[in-house]
Amino acid sequence: MGSGTQTSLKSKVILLRQMTTIETLRAKLPFPLKPLADLAYNYWWSWTNDRISLFQGISPDGWQNCGRNPVAMLESASYVRLTQMAKDPTYIKRVKALAQQYHHYMQEKNTWASRVAPQITWEHPVAYFCAEFGIHESLPIYSGGLGILAGDHLKSASDLGIPMVAIGLMYRQGYFSQRLNRSGWQEESYIYNPFDRMALEPLKNEQGEPLTIELEIRQRIVKVQIWLARVGRVNLYLLDTDRDDNDPMDRWLTGHLYGGNQDTRIAQEVLLGIGGIRALQALGITPSVYHLNEGHAAFCTLEVARQEILGTGKSFYDIEESVRSRCVFTTHTPVPAGHDVFSSDLMDSYFAHFWPTLGLSREQFLALGARRLGDPWEPFGMTVLALRMCRSANGVSELHGQVSRKMWNILYPERAEKDVPIGHITNGVHARTWTAPLMADLYSEYLGEDWSTHVADKQMWAKVDEIPDEEIWWRHQVLKERLIAHTRAKVKMARLERGEEQYLIDAAEQLLEPNVLTIGFARRFSLYKRGDLLLRDVDRALRIFGNSQRPVQIVFAGKSHPQDEGGKRIIQRLMDWCKHPSILNRVALIENYDIYTGQKLVQGVDVWLNNPRRPLEASGTSGQKVCFNGGINCSVLDGWWCEGYQAGADGKGINGWAIGEDAHTSDQELQDRIDAESLYRLLEEEIVPLYYDQDANGIPHRWIEMMKGSIKTNAPVFNTDRMLADYVTQVYAPGTSATKEPILASALA
Ligand SMILES: *Cc1c(COP(=O)(O)O)cnc(C)c1O
Repeated sequence: MGSGTQTSLKSKVILLRQMTTIETLRAKLPFPLKPLADLAYNYWWSWTNDRISLFQGISPDGWQNCGRNPVAMLESASYVRLTQMAKDPTYIKRVKALAQQYHHYMQEKNTWASRVAPQITWEHPVAYFCAEFGIHESLPIYSGGLGILAGDHLKSASDLGIPMVAIGLMYRQGYFSQRLNRSGWQEESYIYNPFDRMALEPLKNEQGEPLTIELEIRQRIVKVQIWLARVGRVNLYLLDTDRDDNDPMDRWLTGHLYGGNQDTRIAQEVLLGIGGIRALQALGITPSVYHLNEGHAAFCTLEVARQEILGTGKSFYDIEESVRSRCVFTTHTPVPAGHDVFSSDLMDSYFAHFWPTLGLSREQFLALGARRLGDPWEPFGMTVLALRMCRSANGVSELHGQVSRKMWNILYPERAEKDVPIGHITNGVHARTWTAPLMADLYSEYLGEDWSTHVADKQMWAKVDEIPDEEIWWRHQVLKERLIAHTRAKVKMARLERGEEQYLIDAAEQLLEPNVLTIGFARRFSLYKRGDLLLRDVDRALRIFGNSQRPVQIVFAGKSHPQDEGGKRIIQRLMDWCKHPSILNRVALIENYDIYTGQKLVQGVDVWLNNPRRPLEASGTSGQKVCFNGGINCSVLDGWWCEGYQAGADGKGINGWAIGEDAHTSDQELQDRIDAESLYRLLEEEIVPLYYDQDANGIPHRWIEMMKGSIKTNAPVFNTDRMLADYVTQVYAPGTSATKEPILASALA
């Protein structure tokens, strides 16, 4: 009897933990709500117009409590509530309409890609590799810009019908959660991702068992399982080593994004690159192009080579060109220290078994990642490997292209800098993800119902001029109020949690005001981004922010890498500033920056501030998101803003402001002084006066003209539809090579 009880107990436990699947969810839902199951399992819902109240309408609190994860929300929704919704004819009609729209979207054959690039087929798609993907806040496997860009890339690829699959890692705990303690110091915590309640499907083999691949890491065989996340038409395959049959250490290989030391780092990159290619093979997918988004995935070129050698019996140098013809590379880092390199010791321990399969000696193999040959201390560089093994390489803005050519000239010593084979495709953002539905609605009215499928059309955006000032202004103000409400709630909660004094907790409810000029600053806190540049002259800053007639307020958000003490000190300084008695309601910092807070910020601010040390911002994309919502950029001329900023005949900006103009020096201290002075001057003499120049009804017409300038000049260019079109025509399409003839590894051997 004892054992019988045990078994039934055990099976109950298993039952409780059973994975939610589309089938179990569909079975749970009342008949007219069944289409919600398919919608919940495809992140496509997150960029539809109807996204706000579709799931939220079922249970507003449940929706927030489960982090806006529709699978978890539907799973936990009460039967009473579901049946209530199922008898509401209006709601049923909405579900039905959206289900039809979804069906149409997924089935559509006449897509942009089918007309422009029919040579890229679903039989041989583009395979996009990245270490992080920022698709929705309920899939927390991203840390920042690189991941968000990758997420936006997949969404536009899907919208345009570009045959694409993607490969990444499914992190058990993702990146860290940020909490600031009472002294303003960042503390990191790690939260388990509830895989069984997420929009993830475990891939199975024909026997119904988990589909796995194997690879050797640290002299052990590691088994890898694969999750599918659907991003519209694009399948994102996420590799996961957390399996009972793996060594406990190997189970944590996919524990954290960018956590751990060099050893974890190389292990993850082996998994992403080599494991990724094996996963595609196990899935029966033969890509025509492998896109390495940043150097992390560059080992994939070696596995493509190994398989080709295995299949043809040829030597590495004979098949090298064939591998190159299928691989393309995007670099994202403008500083040498930002590129992953591994010591030859690490390379030995991870690849000693691998280079013989390529028919290479140790020296020949290590030469693939060496900047300079014949130097025994030269580490193995992932960017170097990618540049050698890819037919095309690009930076992510025009300036970053230049900086990259200069940085990597060392690989091509007999060439002039301008002939280094690295081009550029400037980043963009996914318009439908980042445009607030309230603004999207306005665009539907004035630019056309189909505005969101024509976002690269300059003429269409010119019609923004026809929008009445009052109309755009009230919408903008509502979005600002939404940001203020979000900020107050987050700050209050944080102050409560860290046990601040009662007056500070109460003060959170008075934070910020809708009629005050509102600046946003959100990004990773690291020294080069100079998050505290505004505080160089504290008294001057206090005069600007604390002005009683024309006050200014600012909202900060951002994490600092756990090992970046300098970045953490900047956060601490800002937290200190938030408590300054004369500007208590004018400055706020939102903890734990994520896509949700990001959307509230870029949709609600008047001005987006960005003041990195030039030229360290490869592109930056948050300022682009702001443009789609009528926000105005005030930024150093770095990254994308060099291409975005436009000045009129009087030398003043027509679509935003340029900090420090084009003045630059290698003296950091001097540069900081010049830029801070310029920023103060812009605020005092241009930005504040323009904002407060309002008519009797409080409408700032000249400001709104600038808002419209920001939208109509930037939106048609800095979007991912334009970016994907560039990738398709310049990089992906067979026979294209964005860059000049590259150098073969064989020439180095
Ligand atoms: C857009 C975005 C980023 C990247 O912003 P940058 O301007 O490139 O620094 C980072 N994190 C989140 C949450 C974002 O939405």
